[in-house]
Amino acid sequence: MEKPGIVITGASGRMGQMLVRTVMESDQARLVGAIERQVSPWIGRDLGEAMGGAAIGVTVTDDPIEAIAKAQAVIDFTSPAATVGFAELAAQARAVHVIGTTGLEPEHLAKIKAAARHAPIVRAGNMSLGVNLLVGLTRKVAAALGDDWDVEVVEAHHNRKVDAPSGTALMLGEAAAEGRGHSLDDLRTPAREGITGAREKGTIGFSAIRGGDIVGEHDVMFASAGERLILRHVATDRAIFARGALRAALWGQDKGPGEYDMADVLGL
Ligand code: NAP
Repeated sequence: MEKPGIVITGASGRMGQMLVRTVMESDQARLVGAIERQVSPWIGRDLGEAMGGAAIGVTVTDDPIEAIAKAQAVIDFTSPAATVGFAELAAQARAVHVIGTTGLEPEHLAKIKAAARHAPIVRAGNMSLGVNLLVGLTRKVAAALGDDWDVEVVEAHHNRKVDAPSGTALMLGEAAAEGRGHSLDDLRTPAREGITGAREKGTIGFSAIRGGDIVGEHDVMFASAGERLILRHVATDRAIFARGALRAALWGQDKGPGEYDMADVLGL
């Protein structure tokens, strides 16, 4: 069987370049396309040369329709508005759409849901094995500890990240809420600033640190009177997200239409 052809969107981005390298190094997939915005200086150039290496025979394009039409999977770490458009095109091509983009609002999620009626979509705010294990642990610990244990999710990322809290922090908050039999919408506290009043029992708080080149760090803190339990994940290399995304693209090849996450891919 021919190896699945993969298209990378936002190919010049931090994750885009990491994904290109990961797919190029894989013996299970072929890189068949690279998409960037019309304004990108990479458009029309050979992708390998644009990345500062040897030519690889893939030209960076701003025409997603043509690129996605010949792909079996689209790996997409861009922006919410762009991702919604790629979801529609991937669905038309019946290609697996792997979405790493974070900061998706309900209107974006509704469009992604509609696209998933036609093709498999794997979406996760964090594609790493460690974080997806941490999600499961957080759900279990939250269920085991009563609501006299305050839950706080603390995350740190590089200084160019545009959304907060991170998609991973929200996944962890959702897992803690589920462990307590609620949805995060019921328990989430707004960001604290000024005279906030005392902490409301049972709520889940978020703090975001932005600085330097931090790849991604997440603590889920359970704090009660006299003791604290802290579950921590530290990412030191973006390659973990790219490897997870490629694994999702390969996993999705024999799956029917629908929405999936990394717990499905990893069999957790
Ligand atoms: P980045 O360096 O800004 O890369 C985003 C890329 O997408 C840029 O090259 C951008 O081009 C491009 N882009 C935006 N709109 C586009 C469009 N309409 N068509 C084609 N390309 C488009 O950001 P990043 O650090 O790689 O992160 C990207 C996303 O992935 C963020 O949402 C981030 O939170 C998320 N992320 C997720 C995970 C995970 O495991 N799920 C891990 C890391 C990051 P311009 O530069 O021209 O805007």
